[in-house]
Amino acid sequence: MKELEKISRPVYREQLIQLSNKYGTPLYIYDSYQIKKQYIKMKNAFSCIKNLIINYACKANTNLNILKFLQKLGSGLDTVSIQEVELGLKAGFHPKKIIFTPNCVSIKEIKKAVDFGVRINLDNLSILEQFGEDFSDYSVGIRINPHIMAGGNSKISVGHIDSKFGISHYQIPHMKRILNNTGLKIEGIHMHTGSDISDIKSFLEGANILFKIAMDFPDIDYIDFGSGFKVPYKKNDIKTDLISLSNFITEKFQSFCKDYGSKVSLIFEPGKFLVSESGYFLVNVNVIKHTTSTVFAGVDSGFNHFLRPMFYDAYHCIENISNPNGRLRFYTVVGYICESDTFGFNRKIAEIREGDILCIKNAGAYCFSMSSNYNSRYRPSEVMILNGKDFMIRKRETMQDLLRNIIEIQI
Ligand SMILES: *Cc1c(COP(=O)(O)O)cnc(C)c1O
Repeated sequence: MKELEKISRPVYREQLIQLSNKYGTPLYIYDSYQIKKQYIKMKNAFSCIKNLIINYACKANTNLNILKFLQKLGSGLDTVSIQEVELGLKAGFHPKKIIFTPNCVSIKEIKKAVDFGVRINLDNLSILEQFGEDFSDYSVGIRINPHIMAGGNSKISVGHIDSKFGISHYQIPHMKRILNNTGLKIEGIHMHTGSDISDIKSFLEGANILFKIAMDFPDIDYIDFGSGFKVPYKKNDIKTDLISLSNFITEKFQSFCKDYGSKVSLIFEPGKFLVSESGYFLVNVNVIKHTTSTVFAGVDSGFNHFLRPMFYDAYHCIENISNPNGRLRFYTVVGYICESDTFGFNRKIAEIREGDILCIKNAGAYCFSMSSNYNSRYRPSEVMILNGKDFMIRKRETMQDLLRNIIEIQI
C-alpha cells in the first residue's frame, strides 16, 4: 500500500465545517483521496489477475471531474446511456475503454454507440438480431441473466429469473442461431446481478455460469462480472469480502484461461465501491420541532437532493459536526419537501441546535446523480478535495436553471 502514503490526507470534521462556511449548504463534498484508496484496494485485491480491468460504473456519480479523476487513475468506464458515453469521451476515456451496457434502449441509441466506437454489451435477442443485420463486423458483448437472486433489496436485484435485464442463459441456443444467421461475433460475456451483494456465493454461482458459456464462444476478449460490491454504511456493517472473492475468482479464472487457450480480460464494474464513501452531504438545521412523540430536526434539503433513504430505505449515518461533543439524544432528521422525507428515523445524534451543520455520510454514490428539482428547489453545489485543496466542481443552481427550457406562450 505504498502508493497510499503519497495521497493527501482524508477529510476531517473541521475541514467540513470550513467548507460549509465557504460554499454554503446544502453541499456535496467528494474526497478524491478516498476514491483513489478504493481504486487501489480493488487493484491490489485482484493483483494476481494479469488482465484485470476496472470500469467505473458512472451512473453512481457523473460529475465530469470524478470521471476525469478515475480516468487518470487508469480506470475504464461502464455506461448505461448514450449521454454517459458522451460524458466519458469528454472526460478523456478512449472509446475502447468505455463499455455501453444499456437496457431497453432503442436500436438508434445503440447505433450512436457504434459511431462513437465504444464497446457494447447487448442484453436482448431482438436488438442482437437487428444489430447483427446492420453491423455484423462490430463484435459485441452479451449480458447474461444467470437467474440469481442477489442484492440488498428487490429494487436493486437485477439478475433473477423475472428481471428485465440480460439474456437468459437458457436462451443461448437461440442466440447462437442469431449469430450464425448474421455473422456477428461475441467478444465478451457479461453479468451484473445487483447492488449491495454481501454474499460471495451469488458472485461465484454467476461466475461459474459465465465461464461455462464463454467456453462455447471462440472470440472472447473479456469476461465481465459487473459489480454489486457492498460498502459499509454504518459501524460494523458487512461489506463484500474482496480477498476471499479474489481467492476464488483468481483460481477459477486462471483455470478457465488455461482451458480456453487465448488471452481474456477480467472486468469488474464497481460504482458504489469506488465513490460512495468519498462523499459527504452537508445540510443546515432550519428548525427543531417537538411533537407529541418525536423530536424532529428539519434541514435545508430533502429527497430532491438525497433520495436513497426514502426510495430504498437506505441507512446513511448522520453526524452533528458543529456540536460533536454534545450530549447524545434521539432525533428524526427530516427534509423540507412537502411530502414525508426522512433522512434518518430515531437516531442517536449529538445534541442538535438550530443552525447546526449535519453531515450525511456515504454521499458519493447515487446521491447527486439521482437528485431533482422537485418543489422547484435548486440542486446543490459540489466540491472536490484534490491534493488537500478544495475545488467547486458544480455551481449551485439558480432561477435561470429552473427556467432554462421553459417556453412562455401567450395565455
Ligand atoms: C449500476 C451498475 C453497476 C454498478 O453497481 P454498483 O452497485 O454501484 O457497484 C455495474 N454494472 C452495471 C451494468 C450497472 O448497471
